[in-house]
Amino acid sequence: MIPALPYGGCGLDRAARQRADPEWMARALSDPRTLIVPVNGDRSLVAGGDDVRAVLLANDTINDALAHSAALALLGVDERGLAYIAADLDEAALQMHPLATGASFIELRRVSARLPHPDAALLAYARGLLHWHRRTRFCSDCGAPAESRSAGHARVCTNPECGVTHFPRSDPAIIVLVTRPGPGEEVCLLARQHRWPRGLISTLAGFVEPGESVEEAVVREIGEETGVRLTGVRYCGSQPWPFPSSLMLAFRAEAEPGAEIRLDTDELETGRWFSRAEVAAIGELGFKLPTRDSIARTLVDDWLSG
Ligand SMILES: [Zn+2]
Repeated sequence: MIPALPYGGCGLDRAARQRADPEWMARALSDPRTLIVPVNGDRSLVAGGDDVRAVLLANDTINDALAHSAALALLGVDERGLAYIAADLDEAALQMHPLATGASFIELRRVSARLPHPDAALLAYARGLLHWHRRTRFCSDCGAPAESRSAGHARVCTNPECGVTHFPRSDPAIIVLVTRPGPGEEVCLLARQHRWPRGLISTLAGFVEPGESVEEAVVREIGEETGVRLTGVRYCGSQPWPFPSSLMLAFRAEAEPGAEIRLDTDELETGRWFSRAEVAAIGELGFKLPTRDSIARTLVDDWLSG
């Protein structure tokens, strides 16, 4: 199984029971020790250079600005009993509370490789939940405004004839390292989509469709994009991927011996079998692997190390 990866493992008790108690949340919001995890748009607050860290704000220093927050969401409670609340701070709120020297809002993926895992997970959690609030201001059933409930873990339609409750969602996506056994040495399938950054090559991935198990999605995606038939599929682990709301489910899959690739060129620009030696020196082929914060890279590195 794949070890813990960035964006998961924030270490907080998610405090599901406390979410349902508005008085508990009100007390947390008036407690000066409560820690605020600020988000501005999809950007997270960090400070530092090589030893970059998440910047949390003390509630007593930011509390007046929270009234201007577009959304608040309880993330959880730490082992000291302190509440962590994510706050979407707009420009007006930020003008009321100038940032400490060295702190700045930045896109999480730009710094996640240098962040400690719990910090990356906390910022990913806050980013994902507040992104959902921004995208769910209106009820998707009737179009009326929707209001936050359950300490920011639900939104309820304000139309009394509708009243539907909407919950944060994670879209399941499969990501697959396909290998082909001998004769000869084992090889793996890497490919790149037309729209990807120049040179990037990676494992295959796709969203799970309605009425489909994740195992079926693996077989379908690989078949559609490469024509390769699989003889075995093995689950390896998962990673929350809050860019904006996916849950990556990683698999190793084995192709039939001698399987040839018939590329779907609408979807993929290039794709072929690579030996371990080729992947280990991928730069010499003009390609680059995904960044180390991704489960795709972990799948490739695991295969490389045998
Ligand atoms: Zn509605």
